[in-house]
Amino acid sequence: MNDHDTSRVEGLLQSVGMQGVDDPGDADVVFVNTCCIRENADNKLYGFLGQIKSLRQANPAMRIVVGGCLAQREKEQLLEHAPYVDVVVGTYNLGRIPVLLKDTGNSGMSIVEVPETREEAEGMTGDQGGSYAWNLPSMENTPWSAYVSIQSGCNNSCTFCTVPMVRGHESSRPIDEIVGEVSRLASKGVSEITLLGQNVNSYGRDITRRRPLFAKLLREVGLVDGIRRVRFTSPHPKDILPETIDAMATVDAVCEQLHFPLQSGSDRILAMMHRGYNAERYLGKLRAAREMIPDLAVTTDIIVGFPGETEDDFEQTLKVVAEAQFDAAYTFEFSSRPGTVAARMVDQFVDPDIVSSRFSRLVDLVERSALERNRARVGLTEEVQVEGRSKKDDSVLTGRTRQGKLVHFRPGQPLSPGSYVQVSITDAGPHHLKGEYLGKRLPGSNQRRIPLRVACT
Ligand code: SF4
Repeated sequence: MNDHDTSRVEGLLQSVGMQGVDDPGDADVVFVNTCCIRENADNKLYGFLGQIKSLRQANPAMRIVVGGCLAQREKEQLLEHAPYVDVVVGTYNLGRIPVLLKDTGNSGMSIVEVPETREEAEGMTGDQGGSYAWNLPSMENTPWSAYVSIQSGCNNSCTFCTVPMVRGHESSRPIDEIVGEVSRLASKGVSEITLLGQNVNSYGRDITRRRPLFAKLLREVGLVDGIRRVRFTSPHPKDILPETIDAMATVDAVCEQLHFPLQSGSDRILAMMHRGYNAERYLGKLRAAREMIPDLAVTTDIIVGFPGETEDDFEQTLKVVAEAQFDAAYTFEFSSRPGTVAARMVDQFVDPDIVSSRFSRLVDLVERSALERNRARVGLTEEVQVEGRSKKDDSVLTGRTRQGKLVHFRPGQPLSPGSYVQVSITDAGPHHLKGEYLGKRLPGSNQRRIPLRVACT
């Protein structure tokens, strides 16, 4: 989401006549987007601003803008650490950046404009409006692939997470506006779309006041002419509905890929996290999804060492991970985020050495599961979208399957990034596949789904 916001600001600045430069020293405006989800975000920000400061000294006309959720949290404090910053904006008012740049240029003073709520932001006036500004002209991720925001904020209250504090309550973008943006992108040559939201499964609940509209959105986006792959992130396990799984199973363009954040396999810890499901309900939904979409790849997020996690709780997580047979997992050692409920559970923090040892055991299990899942692809023919040359070997290309798996192969002919090819999978590691190039794949020839079952050992 944060990455996508950066591309929207890039598009916004281009729309007012600016253009990107390769060397930050040549820039008239440097925009630094921040994210406080990651650990040490503030150290990284101030370290980076320290580097930019010397460029600013060499080019006094340079303007520095800092935005995003860390800026929203720091506000005026940011100027105390880095007084040479010209503009500080939050997550709600990115669309105001051109106006604020003009204002700071006129006054010569730094400006901190950080509305606390979307309503406060919407009350502001300016050339670009004061809201989250869905319509900011975003840049494509690549010429063939783009992110599209469908929702901002989150109505959940996971006790480890700062998103509701810095992004506010859920707000869904109108469906016709999303489909319009996807159509525009498709007309420019984009064939892969990733729909973005904090909890995509509840998309539209604030519009209908009843049932979410995510399944309807998948169907409409999947029908846009030129769109061959639709992905989305992130869904919340408690909110995934049968109609969403049905749309994934029946709309050809929707890829066989589901990111399904588990966080913990212990019912006790899941309750402390306020996740709204237990292990059995999670696994039941996963089974239902795999029954409907047999070729489904599933990835997850897991936090190790949440406050109060015992060895027994951790064993429960290992048990669920073994049963779930994930294709990959983003694993994290718990680290507290200021302002969250979990950050106040200091007396229950788990010894770092224990967390680190549990983390290694979990990673080991996930790697074995990922390797088994990838080995089960050997011998299959996959549709691969070319991304570019391998960093290690110039003669090898990399691309992604519909499941989102990375594939390395040697092309039999010159191939441009974004093109679709057929590759026979010949080998597998835990994080990638290797294959033999078979030929180009024509538009409209989406791959047939192949039922597949593997056991994790
Ligand atoms: S659902 Fe996701 S974004 Fe929302 S509070 Fe939980 S972890 Fe944070």
